Amino acid sequence: MEDKQIVCTTCGTDFTFTGEEQEFYFTKGFQEPKKCKPCRDAAKQARGGSGGARGGFGGGGGNRGGGYGAPREMFDAVCAGCGVQTQVPFQPKGSKPVYCRDCFQASRSYY
Ligand SMILES: [Zn+2]
Ligand SMILES: [Zn+2]
Repeated sequence: MEDKQIVCTTCGTDFTFTGEEQEFYFTKGFQEPKKCKPCRDAAKQARGGSGGARGGFGGGGGNRGGGYGAPREMFDAVCAGCGVQTQVPFQPKGSKPVYCRDCFQASRSYY
């Protein structure tokens, strides 16, 4: 069999469908390829990739109005306002002052 030039239906590039390949395709009962090898490989990969990267949304910051009532892990802290032992729903970092509930609400009322 002779080599055959085929124009790729995807990228428009001529590629060689060699005699060997033709024989192989013929014995397997395949149709002659319509795409060059890079395009066939790309198509194969796209199929194997199952969808690809979707999303990025979802999850969310959980900034939904307080969340009172939900059991939360509490951390011991000393109020930077009045010095009382208190508990806060976040890990005190030391870099930011921690306030007890009363002082926190008092500080908020300034705004
Ligand atoms: Zn191609
Ligand atoms: Zn306080």
